[in-house]
Amino acid sequence: MAETEPANFIEDIVEEHNGNGRFGGQVITRFPPEPNGYLHIGHAKSMCLNFGLANKYGGRCHMRFDDTNPAKEEEEFVESILEDVRWLGWDWGEHLYFASDYFNELHDYAIDLIKKGKAYVDDLDQEQIRKYRGTLTEPGVESPFRNRSVDDNLALFRGMKEGEFEEGTKVLRAKIDMASGNINMRDPVLFRILKTPHHRTGEQWVIYPMYDFTHGQSDSIEGITHSICTMEYEDHRPLYDWFLDALDIYQPQQIEFARLNLSNTVLSKRKLIQLVREGHVGGWDDPRMPTLAGLRRRGYTPESIRNFCEQVGVAKRQNVIDIAMLEHAVRDDLNRRAPRALAVLRPLKVVIENYPEGQVEHLDAINNPEDSDAGTRKLPFSRELYIERDDFMEEPPRKFFRLAPGREVRLRYGYFITCTDVIKDDAGEIIELRCTYDPETRGGQAPDGRKVRGTIHWVSAEHAVNAEVRLYDHLFTSERPDDDDDFMSTLNPHSLEVVPDAKVEPSLADAVPGEKFQFERTGYFAVDPDSQPGALVFNRTVTLRDSWKKVTAKL
Ligand code: ATP
Ligand code: MG
Repeated sequence: MAETEPANFIEDIVEEHNGNGRFGGQVITRFPPEPNGYLHIGHAKSMCLNFGLANKYGGRCHMRFDDTNPAKEEEEFVESILEDVRWLGWDWGEHLYFASDYFNELHDYAIDLIKKGKAYVDDLDQEQIRKYRGTLTEPGVESPFRNRSVDDNLALFRGMKEGEFEEGTKVLRAKIDMASGNINMRDPVLFRILKTPHHRTGEQWVIYPMYDFTHGQSDSIEGITHSICTMEYEDHRPLYDWFLDALDIYQPQQIEFARLNLSNTVLSKRKLIQLVREGHVGGWDDPRMPTLAGLRRRGYTPESIRNFCEQVGVAKRQNVIDIAMLEHAVRDDLNRRAPRALAVLRPLKVVIENYPEGQVEHLDAINNPEDSDAGTRKLPFSRELYIERDDFMEEPPRKFFRLAPGREVRLRYGYFITCTDVIKDDAGEIIELRCTYDPETRGGQAPDGRKVRGTIHWVSAEHAVNAEVRLYDHLFTSERPDDDDDFMSTLNPHSLEVVPDAKVEPSLADAVPGEKFQFERTGYFAVDPDSQPGALVFNRTVTLRDSWKKVTAKL
């Protein structure tokens, strides 16, 4: 028994089974990706469910690759998937399986069905099979080959296996019911001829089982108790049950839930593959991709993704989760763990005219106000600084509380400065500000008690380190690109902005890929793997402003 209450309808079912002893109190789940792409945030939800249930009820979760299609699967994907599962924090122990490990059993199951008169070899081609299948309103038509004798079927199936027939000329089908209201039951194909080598079985097979003839039996072979899948498989459940009944083998309980949909994102693997193949993104791990590899590179932590999955919950009804909720989860996590730093993305030079030339002070800065153990660091301060271009306006509107001619502001951890002059180039561009500072205001307080309305960040020009900063926005402008076949037309042309010459505080000089920081007032940033010593590259994980809080406040 778990120590906490059931958190969703799936846990209700598990507890009911535990109560009535259906599976002897065992909980054995599996996570079954097809190795035809990288894992994405939707898979994370599935993993959190499957591994999460196993952990909660003291069971185990198998890692299984559903690798029945030799044409689409690649070893690269197997490796990336295992890496991503581990990274999220899940452990399959010794239970790593491949559906292709069961090709022999699946072949024997097919023979068993043939012998029972429940499967036959069909000579119709794919197109004819589709035509004969009927529609939702019309029953299907039986194939003229449906009533072959058991012996003929055994001989033909052997011929298929031995490579005697060309691809597409024969398939093995289940003999169920061409008039069934459930189209999945209209004599589905079990095995097809594919003369393509498989990433694990090589050239051993020229016939391959269909996904539907593989999934339920794989679960059965492994003794899975709860086979959790997305809603599209609800209509396949009667078929899986039919196979298990006909074969008279152990039967797990299939439970369906609604897949995760995220706004402004595609999660369909076909669409993700297209984004990568056509070069709309830099690869599967492009920080704009909803893949785990992309999110990791962007700066997401495993904890933030798991928290997100928990907050999203589990239901049967389809909905679309606002991507702001995912952003909220990483912001929340990084707020607690990311050290703070000062970084200026678009630098504007400031010269403090009354500050002694050559003088350097080391100001105390707090590493993380959310973590008292994180301590403090020293920030060099000198006569020439950079501030954010946006923090100055020559003619400020009423609510602009930052720097402007004649106006005084506070430098974070530093002094009050007042802008005395604006220097422009021949084109009228502002290239430098002249300021004065009040030496009495070190630490950000004026002894006379006078207030300033703005505090801005800065870095010392002489000490600053150059960095490239990559700013990201949603990949799609449409809220529901996954619903749209023309989804490419809503690609956001501004999803990546490269800021080539940011200036960051010197303590970041040795930051290594994967390290995460809050750049004060700007956002959370992670060091990109492209980063080299002396050529830092940062990805903006997420901005500081939380639009999810605004969304929920309105609800
Ligand atoms: P697609 O339909 O885009 O090809 P898939 O569901 O076929 O994706 P698989 O690799 O077969 O992808 O998925 C592995 C597991 O992850 C399955 O159990 C599947 O139900 C689950 N899964 C995939 N996408 C989502 C999603 N968006 N939300 C929740 N679970 C998902
Ligand atoms: Mg699938």
